[in-house]
Amino acid sequence: MSNLEKTLSIIKPDAVERGLENEIKNQFLSNGFEITNEKKIKISKSEAEDFYKVHQTKPFYNDLCSYLSSGPIVVMILEKNNAILANRKLMGATDPNKAEEGTIRKKYGLSIDKNSVHGSDSLENAKIEINFFFKD
Ligand code: GDP
Repeated sequence: MSNLEKTLSIIKPDAVERGLENEIKNQFLSNGFEITNEKKIKISKSEAEDFYKVHQTKPFYNDLCSYLSSGPIVVMILEKNNAILANRKLMGATDPNKAEEGTIRKKYGLSIDKNSVHGSDSLENAKIEINFFFKD
């Protein structure tokens, strides 16, 4: 049965900085995702704090928000059947050292904080995150 979903993906500053934008987009395309909307932006620290507010009690929250606002990022809406889970699988584990072979984080991630990509983790968060960056 088809279950077309949208999810929010971000190519994080470490990957944009290393010129991996097109290579990572091709990973999505070759895995059957459609990129239906995208923009390259730089967000402020307070926007990053708002985006990551679910993590505000975590010890790494401040570093995380400084990092996401440290340079250009590419935000995209990805569409595919079961896109949310499919994207989480394609990204791999949060820590690139623990990510499976073939995943984006295994291929490109540098460390648990500089792990190259973000992807929504639930249908509810996908809607919130898409609305955060694409409010129309
Ligand atoms: P994700 O959904 O796989 O991105 O992981 P989480 O939602 O748990 O965490 C959000 C982001 O916070 C991750 O992508 C990492 O960039 C960062 N992060 C998570 N855990 C840690 C940690 O223990 N230390 C640091 N420095 N960053 C972390």
